[in-house]
Amino acid sequence: MDSKIKIIAGPCSAESRAQVLETAKALKDMGVKIFRAGVWKPRTRPGGFEGAGDVALEWLADVRKEAGMKTCCEVATPEHLHKALDSGVDILWIGARTTADPFAVQAIADGIESREVTILIKNPVNPDVELWAGAVERFRNAGVKNILLVHRGFSSYDTGIYRNLPLWHIPIEMKRRFPDIPVLCDPSHMGGRRELVLPLSQQALDLMYDGLMIECHCNPDNALSDKLQQLSPAQLSDILSNLKPRQEGRQTDLESLRNRIDVLDESIMKLLKERMVVSEQIGDYKLKQNMPVFQSQRYSQIVDKVIRQAESLGLDPDFAASLMELIHKESVRLQLKQRKEN
Ligand code: PEP
Ligand code: MN
Repeated sequence: MDSKIKIIAGPCSAESRAQVLETAKALKDMGVKIFRAGVWKPRTRPGGFEGAGDVALEWLADVRKEAGMKTCCEVATPEHLHKALDSGVDILWIGARTTADPFAVQAIADGIESREVTILIKNPVNPDVELWAGAVERFRNAGVKNILLVHRGFSSYDTGIYRNLPLWHIPIEMKRRFPDIPVLCDPSHMGGRRELVLPLSQQALDLMYDGLMIECHCNPDNALSDKLQQLSPAQLSDILSNLKPRQEGRQTDLESLRNRIDVLDESIMKLLKERMVVSEQIGDYKLKQNMPVFQSQRYSQIVDKVIRQAESLGLDPDFAASLMELIHKESVRLQLKQRKEN
């Protein structure tokens, strides 16, 4: 692996001193320099393993001493922040559920005393670029200089093969807004399954991500949290040696731009599908209320809005209007088809 690619690896949760140290030593042997482990675990439902808590901070301190690695854990409250910093944790991450909560983010930012701390900000669980950007601004306003983003995918009713939908256009928009902030990918929480870690990591590297945060456990099948997505050290080592970093000579600029276009096209197609589904729901409603399919006033509003938006984005308004016309035509076709079938 290219040493310019930052690799953070370690278990979802610190479960015991032995599990933490065995995993850390295996990772150190394969050249990983930053060890991650959850000390306090946010669980969607109560009753699951909620992390070992404060005692796990001592195990992380042992990782620093015995394996010479930097350590990294999640903080969700000012209390976590102070405990983690007092025990010498090097890097802190803000979890996806926390990033979605501006009160929590502000409370942690207010607790920051040193500008030297490094904060990783995971994307919020919901696909809202403003919330993610807001968290960056709150930490920047608190004086934090070392900020990195972690893209771990987004919740959705329909996540397809993923645990969390990648929606690559959102981190791309974050990169546009914050060009100096490095972006890492967390393929473990994105894919939710071991098999997806390699393809998602490669896609992230092809998109010029600066690094990866990957879950790795010395005995993944018996992990107390996220066991389907954790890799054994041997599996991780295999993946790291199979990844092809973006390098001069390997991938031309043209290829990498084409990769970005492919990802954006995929997002456009998914958005179009989502729009057609909503349009069919509207069709259903109109049918039940005995309303006509086509309402010219509504159509002109849509076109006017798109033209104004195109102008403000610097897109050709004629192009935007023709595209909208095509999309609207397809919506009308679907709604008429629905009527025929009823
Ligand atoms: C984690 O990294 O273990 C974690 C809980 O991640 P996220 O906040 O992305 O769900
Ligand atoms: Mn996890």
